[in-house]
Amino acid sequence: MRIGYGWDSHEFKPGIPLVIGGITLPHDKGLGGHSDGDVLLHAITDALLGAIAGPDIGSLFPPSDPQWRGADSAVFLAEALKRVAADGYELVNLDSTLILAAPKIGPHAATIRQHVAELCGIPEDCVGIKAKTPEGIDTDNAAIAHVTVLLARR
Ligand code: MG
Repeated sequence: MRIGYGWDSHEFKPGIPLVIGGITLPHDKGLGGHSDGDVLLHAITDALLGAIAGPDIGSLFPPSDPQWRGADSAVFLAEALKRVAADGYELVNLDSTLILAAPKIGPHAATIRQHVAELCGIPEDCVGIKAKTPEGIDTDNAAIAHVTVLLARR
């Protein structure tokens, strides 16, 4: 068994889509970044890579490389899952906490859970999607994601 942990944050910017867990959410701002800014998929990717002591997401997909501009972060996740399988492991479950002031994630949590489960090839009841508003940490213009994963031998 292996455990992995990933963390990511992105800044809100006006005029771009907000993509979290591969789902575009209705909001007046999106998350900036070289790719699509999907803070949740980035943290899941890093958790998977960390669990196999692999290189991190920034090493595999450098922000300086123009081919990742606007990239669908599902590509990063797929690469991490491929590496997990190549090392002889499979994902058992993942748990996540999103920290953002707005929009409220609750109404979209089921949709995000379903999509992340599909991307990861695990049952929906093996994907935890939790969200909190930032209290006293002055991060209202950012979205933060924490993720843990458990891997088992295939
Ligand atoms: Mg990121």
